[in-house]
Amino acid sequence: MQVHGYPYDATGSTFIVEMHEQVWAKAGFAGLAPAGLAPGQSDEASIAKMIDLLGHIIGDHAIEANNSKWISFGTLRCSSWRNHNVVLLGDAAHTAHFSIGSGTKLAMEDALALAACLNEQPDVDSALDAYEAERRPVVESTQRAAQASLEWFENLGQYTHQ
Ligand SMILES: Cc1cc2nc3c(=O)[nH]c(=O)nc-3n(C[C@H](O)[C@H](O)[C@H](O)COP(=O)(O)OP(=O)(O)OC[C@H]3O[C@@H](n4cnc5c(N)ncnc54)[C@H](O)[C@@H]3O)c2cc1C
Repeated sequence: MQVHGYPYDATGSTFIVEMHEQVWAKAGFAGLAPAGLAPGQSDEASIAKMIDLLGHIIGDHAIEANNSKWISFGTLRCSSWRNHNVVLLGDAAHTAHFSIGSGTKLAMEDALALAACLNEQPDVDSALDAYEAERRPVVESTQRAAQASLEWFENLGQYTHQ
């Protein structure tokens, strides 16, 4: 199991627990995790077990669940980010593994670029073309870096004896 932990403000930190599905099953999470949690609901049974297993890392700190549940990370790539006058940005257009911490930055930069293109181009059609032409190379480069990071963490088992 690996923990990704990093502060987001003066008093709080993100705390992500990641593991291979076999490790997850052997640790007993498969029988605990409820199927079909509603949006916003957290998997409290798994969180309690995680606190038990990782108490030596968590120490006296409180765990604050926030829509916390098991997910399998999926990398999303779209061949086009627009359909007529409908345009995609952020995670709807592309995802990058959380271990490189860039998803929010990419989404914000998409929004800035889209606003600038709409301001600078003569019409919506050319603005949406310019937006995708500007952002796609940046996003693809970040996704390549994120893929290497994803593979490192998802295949960690092959390095643990080294
Ligand atoms: C475990 C994990 C850790 C991460 N850590 C980091 C990090 O440290 N740094 C970082 O930069 N990024 C991180 N990311 C990525 C980051 O969370 C996303 O890239 C970012 O939130 C994308 O923003 P967004 O606005 O495109 O999408 P979202 O934040 O997903 O926003 C989409 C919103 O649309 C709402 N919605 C969905 N469907 C509908 C509908 N039909 N009608 C109305 N509303 C709807 C959703 O509820 C949601 O609020 C992490 C991701 C994961 C999974």
